[in-house]
Amino acid sequence: MSKPGTGMKGDTVKQRAEIALNNDFLRKAVRFTTERLKDGKLKATETLGNWEEWRERGRQIRLHTIAHLDYYLTQFAENARANGVHVHFASTAEEAVHLSLSIAERNQAKTVVKSKSMVTEELHLNHALESIGVEAIETDLGEYIIQLAGEAPSHIIIPAIHKNRYQIAELLSKDAGETLEPDTSVLAGYVRRKLREKFLEADIGMTGCNFAIAETGSMVLFENEGNARMVSTVPRTQITLMGMERIIPGWGDLEVMATLLPRSATGQKLTVYMSGITGPRRKEDADGPEEMHIIIIDNGRSLQLGDPEFQELLNCIRCGACLNVCPVYRHIGGHAYGGAYSGPIGAVLTPAINKNVAEWDDIANASSLCGACYEACPVKIPLHEMLIYLRRRKVEKGRSDKIESLGMKGFAAVMSNSGRFKLALKMGKLGQQLVVRGGEIRTKLGPLKKWNTYRVTPSLPKKSFRDQWGTLEQEIREGLQEMDPAIQARMEQHMKDREKGGGHGHG
Ligand code: SF4
Repeated sequence: MSKPGTGMKGDTVKQRAEIALNNDFLRKAVRFTTERLKDGKLKATETLGNWEEWRERGRQIRLHTIAHLDYYLTQFAENARANGVHVHFASTAEEAVHLSLSIAERNQAKTVVKSKSMVTEELHLNHALESIGVEAIETDLGEYIIQLAGEAPSHIIIPAIHKNRYQIAELLSKDAGETLEPDTSVLAGYVRRKLREKFLEADIGMTGCNFAIAETGSMVLFENEGNARMVSTVPRTQITLMGMERIIPGWGDLEVMATLLPRSATGQKLTVYMSGITGPRRKEDADGPEEMHIIIIDNGRSLQLGDPEFQELLNCIRCGACLNVCPVYRHIGGHAYGGAYSGPIGAVLTPAINKNVAEWDDIANASSLCGACYEACPVKIPLHEMLIYLRRRKVEKGRSDKIESLGMKGFAAVMSNSGRFKLALKMGKLGQQLVVRGGEIRTKLGPLKKWNTYRVTPSLPKKSFRDQWGTLEQEIREGLQEMDPAIQARMEQHMKDREKGGGHGHG
């Protein structure tokens, strides 16, 4: 079994992660690219300067917009309609799919060309189009590759991140019916030639939307390949699908987003193509679609509105930066998460927007809770806190694993009692003698099997901090004699309190 469209077998995150961990190609490819993206982002933000201030401005814009989402959505819809666009609202995925298919049928469409859009992945729209005999062709290079492979994107920005150029050459050679060299320019050249014909043939162009500008009813697309421009100008009809949270109030806010998004996503100062689309072709225009539709999709998003734990999730600008720094994503790639969205944002967004919450319970476990995602996020979404909330919710709803619950109860019993903690340390030190070699534990016996397959467990030190505390405390007391009397008094008080409280610190 596999989650629909991921192309990876396994019913649980654990099972899929195991498959990913045993795939050396995948691990190397993901690691190589995420490293490059992470370094690129670091350089781009350092060159810009005042990154923290930009982040805060971005966060404030998103917080304000989402807090007034009803107002800005209405303003956007009114302005877009005044521009000649057909605006539709879809409260569910099914409704959004139904609307898209009806437009395709009304236009007697045979072919749809698509630019990269995560929301259409969320809706599994390509399969739906195929079911009514409409060919949907992805025109972003990465998306085209994974479409040929019959897979879903494994990264928000780099859909084929898990493939190397040899695997890509193999896929494209099959498509071309001839052997193509595993050379990036040869492969990109082949896809470019092939897609040009498709752009000209297509009846409908389908795009996502990076930002929707409420004050003018315009849509803004960020891209690097120019395919979204072709998709939105060549076919006679255009359909844009957007999550309802894509709104920003005005063009002034776009400046901040255009500063944050490309730098966070790929380390670019600016995206290569940024297109603003305000309505269908006018009489005086040389090109552009004659008919334009925007489908604004809820699909579980409004469940986050007013939820103190989750509302900030709607601030996400889909840059993918949290994936690139996540120690879990960097090891297992995107398909192991099982949904359209992967990495830390996927681990929170997927259960948040899905009605069947229990089905996605285990996804929040795919995190070390290190907080790197928060540090990387250009709009400061506290994903690590949301992940903790999701885990807590699972426990409170009684859906946690019985053995895990028992283990946690035992852990709490040891950690909350000084005597038990001391005893556990003593036992641990004695027990580890059987398996420690050169200060490390590498055995794959019992509970250590999975952990030590991919890592090494450090041994407990001969002298723990707790063992050393007596001597350290004496040294500190001696040092206090030479300190400022005020600090001295505070330190002494602190030590007295500590003795009274019987805290055991970190052994
Ligand atoms: S959560 Fe933040 S870092 Fe992750 S994709 Fe969204 S905006 Fe980017």
